[in-house]
Amino acid sequence: MTCARCNEPLTYNELGLNAKFNAAREKLCIRCLAEKLGVTQQRLREKTEEFIRAGCTMFTKE
Ligand SMILES: [Zn+2]
Repeated sequence: MTCARCNEPLTYNELGLNAKFNAAREKLCIRCLAEKLGVTQQRLREKTEEFIRAGCTMFTKE
């Protein structure tokens, strides 16, 4: 699967972020998702770490 805006291939964790934060059918890479949500990529990476620590199976250590 690729990003709906920039066509970058999506990682497992990016798909997880979309599942958590992007209700739209178009899946976005972390850069485009951050832009859409009006947050920094760093913030999304921190959220990813939090979900990993919480044991969420939609995320994995890369
Ligand atoms: Zn993108």
